[in-house]
Amino acid sequence: MTSTVDVVVIGGGIVGTATAMALTERYRRSVVILEAERTLAAHQSGHNSGVIHAGLYYQPGSEKARTCVDGRTALYRFCDEMGIAHRRCGKLIVATTDAEVAALHNLEQRGRANGLVGLRRVARDEIRDIEPAVSGVAGLWVEETGVVDFRAVTEAYASRIRDGGGAIRTGVKVIGAVPDARGLVIETTRGELRALALINCAGLHADRVARACRTDPEVTIVPFRGEYYEVVSERRSLVRNLIYPVPDPALPFLGAHFTRTIDDRVEAGPSAVLAFEREGYDRTSFSLRDTVDLLRFPGFRRMALRYWRTGVAEIARSVSKELFVRTLRRLIPELRRTDIRRAGSGVRAQAVDRLGNLLDDFYIVRGNRSLHVLNAPSPAATASIAIGRTLAAQLDELVTA
Ligand SMILES: Cc1cc2nc3c(=O)[nH]c(=O)nc-3n(C[C@H](O)[C@H](O)[C@H](O)COP(=O)(O)OP(=O)(O)OC[C@H]3O[C@@H](n4cnc5c(N)ncnc54)[C@H](O)[C@@H]3O)c2cc1C
Repeated sequence: MTSTVDVVVIGGGIVGTATAMALTERYRRSVVILEAERTLAAHQSGHNSGVIHAGLYYQPGSEKARTCVDGRTALYRFCDEMGIAHRRCGKLIVATTDAEVAALHNLEQRGRANGLVGLRRVARDEIRDIEPAVSGVAGLWVEETGVVDFRAVTEAYASRIRDGGGAIRTGVKVIGAVPDARGLVIETTRGELRALALINCAGLHADRVARACRTDPEVTIVPFRGEYYEVVSERRSLVRNLIYPVPDPALPFLGAHFTRTIDDRVEAGPSAVLAFEREGYDRTSFSLRDTVDLLRFPGFRRMALRYWRTGVAEIARSVSKELFVRTLRRLIPELRRTDIRRAGSGVRAQAVDRLGNLLDDFYIVRGNRSLHVLNAPSPAATASIAIGRTLAAQLDELVTA
């Protein structure tokens, strides 16, 4: 493999493909995506809740808030244009205690500050008109939320890249990159490649890829597994659309929720359990290298000290179906243990800094002729078109400079 392109994109997830699409369509750059797995969207982009987030939760002025709102609008338009199945179904966030009502109020304020228009407070006796099986003290209706299959979205981005003259090579893992007088030499498992610049969208491996490209990522990726249950078909009528709890504002996770997916299944989850392997989809998954890396990182030890209670509770819920059902029953009291069965899981790439803080916003580091996406958790799938356009603009500047 000895070709020269303007930009190499490392990672064929939804962020990498969205960026490559913007580079080919908006900047007419020659682009090649290198993806380690045999298929696109093999990790986070193909293992998620499939929710098109409205943009409610995020700190006003943050990149998450801006790109989620812009990206959601662009995504609905893209799905319409490309004929991708999606449903703009809205969602209900449910407060189950008086303390949560105050948090619900704060969420509503945030949503309004972020420019959401379809927000409506729902009184206790109105909740059942929207979701008949749900009981709560108050609710918030979020009209702009929807569902889609992000794997299908990634594939559609890929077809647009190919139409625009870009290339996608799967089964090619990037090992490192070194700058020389003409740009970068990118070393892969299938030989070398030359490029003027690169963008690292390697998700769960983004910190390692940054280091291999001689850039200090300043954070470590900590993997958090999200385990799902599926509601058995005879009981799917318990959920009309999307039912969410009020999230814990101290954590970057939204809490286990019910999702009626685009193919009409009903999922419950995900949890947020520390994983001992970056691509560890099972409860028994373990990688010595990943675990040693975690334990050596001072930020991980600080994080563990701070959040150990939450961590232990998540492990307990992962092991015990009864505990998981108990959490879900706060939203749907009549849910029985036999109503759900274990389904798949996804692993989130969450960046943690040396002080043990879980980074809340998206985080991009600039290297030598390179950009490194080091934190792109939820809602990055929703926001992907807007993130891709932002990254493409920055990368075009790098290539032109
Ligand atoms: C359980 C869960 C639920 C979620 N729910 C939602 C949701 O409902 N809505 C939403 O908007 N977001 C959601 N998210 C977040 C969303 O899925 C991610 O933010 C998004 O998919 C990140 O995309 P990515 O391209 O950065 O990463 P990924 O999809 O992980 O892609 C990275 C790619 O890089 C490849 N790679 C790694 N190393 C190399 C290398 N050395 N060489 C070549 N390739 C490499 C990997 O194989 C992988 O394909 C969820 C995430 C999880 C895990």
